[in-house]
Amino acid sequence: MENDPPIVQFCPKGNVLVVAEQSLGQIQPVTLELLGAGRILADKMGKDLHCVIMGYDLGDLPNQLIHYGADVVYVADDEALQYYRTLPYRRVLVDLLDSLQEPPHTMLLGSSTTGRDLAPRIAAHFETGLTADCTELDIGPYEHKSKVDPTKLGLYPNCLYAIRPSFGESLKARILGPWKNPQMATTRPGVMIPLKIDTSRQGQIHNIPVKLNSEDLRLIVAETVKEVSSGLKLTEAEVIVSGGYGLGSKEGFELLEQLANCFNSNAIGASRKVVDLGWIPYQHQVGQTGKTVRPKLYIACGISGAIQHRVGMSKSNIIIAINKDMDAPIFKFAHQGIIGDIYQIVPELITQFKALQNKSALGGKSVVGSR
Ligand SMILES: Cc1cc2nc3c(=O)[nH]c(=O)nc-3n(C[C@H](O)[C@H](O)[C@H](O)COP(=O)(O)OP(=O)(O)OC[C@H]3O[C@@H](n4cnc5c(N)ncnc54)[C@H](O)[C@@H]3O)c2cc1C
Repeated sequence: MENDPPIVQFCPKGNVLVVAEQSLGQIQPVTLELLGAGRILADKMGKDLHCVIMGYDLGDLPNQLIHYGADVVYVADDEALQYYRTLPYRRVLVDLLDSLQEPPHTMLLGSSTTGRDLAPRIAAHFETGLTADCTELDIGPYEHKSKVDPTKLGLYPNCLYAIRPSFGESLKARILGPWKNPQMATTRPGVMIPLKIDTSRQGQIHNIPVKLNSEDLRLIVAETVKEVSSGLKLTEAEVIVSGGYGLGSKEGFELLEQLANCFNSNAIGASRKVVDLGWIPYQHQVGQTGKTVRPKLYIACGISGAIQHRVGMSKSNIIIAINKDMDAPIFKFAHQGIIGDIYQIVPELITQFKALQNKSALGGKSVVGSR
């Protein structure tokens, strides 16, 4: 048709590339999720799904990536890559992309500590766009109508739609970067769906060179300490005391520990916001992208009650919410609500529960302990 916009043959080039994460000989779950999402995007464009894995003594991991959906796996196996370090990993990725005949159409990393560190380095190097923390990905057309730069007018097929919550997570924003490949995104762990493992899948494995210089090796890993979680797992505890941003700082969890210790079978939970802030490790997160829990008692301290938190704990037998905002959404579904400051109410609760404990000890019967 005469008035149809010109189709700009820019976006359809290149494959989808997933940057894998492994730790201590295990592929991280977010990588499997990215392969699931990447497979859908690649199939939609009729392209291949590529994956790159970096590390040392990687053994069978490249094959596992094929079993989870990759067509081609690039492997950088070198002692210098044993532990994640920004500069060596960045160097390997930049060299890989430079060596390809055409850049990937889309490059995906996890919104993990590693992915959040690495992705902007790559995007900055190639001067391309990056959308962080996506919850959905898709491929579709984009028609550029703005006449500000007439050279860009036209219909761009097969653009990456990087979709993520926006405006306080109340809206979904679809973010596009059609001008340059790779179009980059990181995705939140736990959101994308991995494919079922298929050990009959075949693919290609290419070893790639690792050429690092002294600048890349400035940082030395002196020691790695594996975090060992203490106490009961969230899914096993009968009483969960959970903390949110209202705690004000990570030290607030010490007070919640004291409250939790009033019960025999207890665990500490948390909202995603405080996990993202690094106040408490991810294994404590309750909600859509954390654990789903069903304890006998869930005490939510300084948690607003966003839908993504609610879906992880609303099946608890009894929910008690402590929040200083009487309009906080959590009061709409908590069984008991206490309006006030955590730092006034929790110490008082601890005193009361301890008094009950002492009383029941005298009577020879545990009132507070649930086991
Ligand atoms: C795809 C997706 C997945 C997500 N997954 C999860 C998930 O798994 N789990 C999760 O929790 N969130 C998840 N979120 C985030 C969620 O939307 C909220 O942003 C998050 O739950 C808010 O955490 P919060 O309640 O700690 O913080 P806020 O919303 O900031 O609430 C803090 C609350 O503390 C109260 N407060 C402040 N000071 C005090 C005080 N001194 N005493 C008492 N109360 C006080 C405030 O009134 C407020 O209600 C997800 C979001 C998305 C988009």
